[in-house]
Amino acid sequence: MKDRRHYSLPDLPYGYGDLAPVISEEQLRIHHTKHHKAYVEGANMLLDSLDKARESNTDVDYGAIAKQLSFNTGGHRLHSLFWMNLMKPKAGNVPGGKISDVLIEEFGSFERFRKEFSQTALKTEGSGWAVLSFCPEVMRPIILQVEKHNVNVTPRRPVIMALDVWEHAYYLDYRNDRSKYIENAWSILNWDEVNKRLEELL
Ligand code: MN
Repeated sequence: MKDRRHYSLPDLPYGYGDLAPVISEEQLRIHHTKHHKAYVEGANMLLDSLDKARESNTDVDYGAIAKQLSFNTGGHRLHSLFWMNLMKPKAGNVPGGKISDVLIEEFGSFERFRKEFSQTALKTEGSGWAVLSFCPEVMRPIILQVEKHNVNVTPRRPVIMALDVWEHAYYLDYRNDRSKYIENAWSILNWDEVNKRLEELL
């Protein structure tokens, strides 16, 4: 039976080789089975140490635990969302449906959105993510950067699409050429999935 009190590594909705040549089998396998898995295990260890402290009525370093929980649970949640918003490469991949309307209304054109998102991803310093969120307060899509995985809490401003720009996401395939990775990633974004996430908010 599934342990509902711990995080678990989700299976990918495609095979490890399916995103090639944009993301190679080796790159994807390491990313999923080493990096993502480490965040899942890290989060579970932290939960266990909190359980233990509560059972024995002892103290732990709450500040350090909270910071590490934010990092590891953020990493797990972001990767889980990221895998689902990827698919096999498709030439001329563009969004359809509601997400297309929303992006064109906000940015004027898909090309303009693509440029702004790519630049945001390129300029994310060090390890982090470029994400597309949709804020129901203003009913607008907003491009944001995430430093490392520290998303903390963003109530009512969900991420509907995420692009991992940590070096561990692309270094085997692209070495230090992040811009090439970003350019190629546009062909593997699963817009149906992004559209589904958007429609849940409208
Ligand atoms: Mn990653």
